Amino acid sequence: MSNRTFTMIKPDATKKGDTGAILDQIIKAGFAVKAMKWTKLTQEQAGLFYDIHRERPFFGELVDFMSSGPIVAAILEKDNAVEDFRTLIGATNPAQAAEGTIRKRFAASIGENAVHGSDSDENAAIEGNFFFSALERF
Ligand code: ATP
Ligand code: MG
Repeated sequence: MSNRTFTMIKPDATKKGDTGAILDQIIKAGFAVKAMKWTKLTQEQAGLFYDIHRERPFFGELVDFMSSGPIVAAILEKDNAVEDFRTLIGATNPAQAAEGTIRKRFAASIGENAVHGSDSDENAAIEGNFFFSALERF
């Protein structure tokens, strides 16, 4: 078990003005911010980030959506970070997400679901390295 995970607040949530409320819920749940940036992905960068889904039918829609507006990328620290953060955000489809989870509160659909959370320690490290240099982590 490692203690770091990676998240993005997705373009639907930044556009709706939910960035502050989502960060507040994350920090109140005990996650410490180790790195953070406000940025915007190109289609190519969004495709590389979600490369594992390249053959899935929703890949084009996912890339279009993830490059449609600004995102907030962050590395978060907490005991059992990956698993606890997935619990905090809830199921991929907000209709199936537990009450009080970030996706239940802020997401509109399975495609536009407000936040990303790493699914393993290995991917948390890969995803954090995709966005942040050693000089950007505190
Ligand atoms: P994320 O990786 O963004 O945290 P997740 O791990 O819950 O989400 P994945 O299966 O990794 O879910 O899917 C990645 C993203 O692709 C989802 O968050 C969603 O934005 C999009 N996606 C997944 N399934 C669908 C679908 N059936 N239709 C449209 N978009 C989808
Ligand atoms: Mg995933």
